[in-house]
Amino acid sequence: MEDLVERLSQLYSFKKDTPLVWQSALSKGKVREEEWEGVRFLRLDKPVHSLERGTILCEDGIVRGYPRIRRIINLTNGIRRNLTTAFHVEEKVDGYNVRVVRLCGRVVALSRGGYVCPFTTDRLEDLLDYEPFFRDNPHLVLCCEVAGPESPYNTESPPYIKEDVRLFVFDIMEKGGRVLPPAERYQLVEKYGLPSVRSYGSFLPEEADRVLQIAREMDREGLEGMVLKPVDGGRYLKYTVPSSHINDIRATAILLRDIPCGFYLKRILMLGFALRELNPADHTERAHLLGEVFTRAIRDAQELVLSGRDITEQFSVRFRKKQNVERFFSLFRTAPVDVRIKDQHHSDGYIRVTFERIYRRSTAFIRSSLKGATFVD
Ligand code: ATP
Repeated sequence: MEDLVERLSQLYSFKKDTPLVWQSALSKGKVREEEWEGVRFLRLDKPVHSLERGTILCEDGIVRGYPRIRRIINLTNGIRRNLTTAFHVEEKVDGYNVRVVRLCGRVVALSRGGYVCPFTTDRLEDLLDYEPFFRDNPHLVLCCEVAGPESPYNTESPPYIKEDVRLFVFDIMEKGGRVLPPAERYQLVEKYGLPSVRSYGSFLPEEADRVLQIAREMDREGLEGMVLKPVDGGRYLKYTVPSSHINDIRATAILLRDIPCGFYLKRILMLGFALRELNPADHTERAHLLGEVFTRAIRDAQELVLSGRDITEQFSVRFRKKQNVERFFSLFRTAPVDVRIKDQHHSDGYIRVTFERIYRRSTAFIRSSLKGATFVD
């Protein structure tokens, strides 16, 4: 432990009490040792002092975690109250977050928690041409969302992605954590031909009505929502639209005992706010749809369990290397997630894997309730 404290203190020092901060983080199990193809690094499993969860430290130095984004649920007043300068409106792509970074000579994709994601790293060469960018900018990190119908982590996908997955750069950050202002990122994205999230342009806080129109458009198109980014690099805001709340509930209501109830409640609340503000013509139908998707999922869950099956989510993904398939599933084994591989075959140069995640708690709850079990509420 002494050794590790010293190594950590050399890699990153806080303003005060550096060894003590690291010592306490280590004793609380907040720092984990990891390895990827010979690259050893330390991963923060929980925030430590001012460092975000998912921050990693290796011989090259630090790679900070991606910062959290505050949410607004009233778009117009959220803009008026929180933004004082012009800001860019970007699509909030519904997928999972990775930081693509060069680590001791290797380009890898780090998950939000700071693991090397075996799936994304395996597929990086298909997703973007990263070499020229990292050759010129080894100190930068590409913050990206990966989404699509063949994502191994999401059952929902943006409607315009018809197959496989795609990657979208939404921020460029220095390894030390400074996020570049949007204009600088747009230039780099252009220069290196990187795939990017869609930008809807820049607006002034007085133009909140125009942003509301964009939100209505996103809602009609089935997109998740938007992230508002001040031109001067100030604090971001995120806002999601009604269709995305209903889609989230449709996708997850069946997992009722594996997801905290707060997840659903938050979405119902956001939906209620967004329906009042966006006021779509079919606003009553949407409210009915919410009830419909919820109750249908719970009815379907009962039918499934009665027919002897488990409550599951299905995934179909493509890998390039067999070794990464193994790494991917071994990560699941360390997490409290039950996974069953259903099929694995080679086609078009890929290993195509179909697997399911099994939700034991939801299955057990439905099964015992159907048999008449009691519970205290
Ligand atoms: P947070 O940690 O910020 O509270 P979360 O992990 O619950 O959020 P979300 O609520 O989905 O995630 O919102 C933030 C995430 O949205 C970002 O971490 C990023 O992965 C994703 N995202 C998608 N598109 C963008 C974009 N254009 N700009 C910034 N983030 C985006």
